[in-house]
Amino acid sequence: MSPARHLRAWLARLFAAARRTGTLTRSRSPAYNGGMRVALLRRSAPEPTHVTVIHAGTCYPVAVRRRAAARRITLRVSSATGEIVLTLPEGTDLATAQRFADSHGAWIAARVAKLPQRVAFEPGAVVPLRGVPHRILHWSTASGATTVTTAPDGTPVIAVSCGRPHVGRRVRDFLEAEARSDLTAAVARHAGALGRTPRRLTVRDTRSRWGSCSAAGQLNFSWRLILAPPEVLDYLAAHEVAHLAEMNHSDRFWRVVAGLYPGYEAPEAWLKRHGTELHRYG
Ligand SMILES: [Zn+2]
Repeated sequence: MSPARHLRAWLARLFAAARRTGTLTRSRSPAYNGGMRVALLRRSAPEPTHVTVIHAGTCYPVAVRRRAAARRITLRVSSATGEIVLTLPEGTDLATAQRFADSHGAWIAARVAKLPQRVAFEPGAVVPLRGVPHRILHWSTASGATTVTTAPDGTPVIAVSCGRPHVGRRVRDFLEAEARSDLTAAVARHAGALGRTPRRLTVRDTRSRWGSCSAAGQLNFSWRLILAPPEVLDYLAAHEVAHLAEMNHSDRFWRVVAGLYPGYEAPEAWLKRHGTELHRYG
């Protein structure tokens, strides 16, 4: 059996099992009587979160997302995460979706091949910190603080002291802490200038947005801003603080941003141009 046929047979067995599970639940419930329950139970049969597309001997996992608002099947490869995502309208059956994905195998392979190379946080890797390339140096296996220093050859380094398996985690924690520290200072400065007080500041690995401001005045930022040149992080802090005064992107909002950060257009353009590159790291 070819790998593709083998996979389809496996998927068919998976669905059969899901249907059987539904039947089993029904027969186990003596109180059950009525068509409505059947419909509900059938609908709750789990749908696989992924399908697989095989092209030129390589398997590509494709995430399946159902969207009530989707008008047609769409396929995309995220340049930020490398994830292949198939979006389906509510009524489209999975077999149709699988055929659609299969017919785009070459397209998927080409897009994946063009993705920017990921840089894992491991010894020797070069990672930007405040826009300056730093090499990760596994300084010692004894547990100690992560520090920024300069190697004898003049290269800036992030020196990590911990067991080898924890290097990646330590670098990530360090960068997140640096991001929180810079963002806290920048937010305090801009909020002071604007005469507003944010409620809370959180730093996360947000994928779709670099920052956000809730109606309650909570600010949220991506830790990856610490990788960008400092003016980019500073501008994002000003942008979100400006939302404390204007919860929109109106002309009035942009005037507030310009008041807090004159020349904000340059860092804004930098993010549009280079933002996705920041997702390569870690
Ligand atoms: Zn905004």
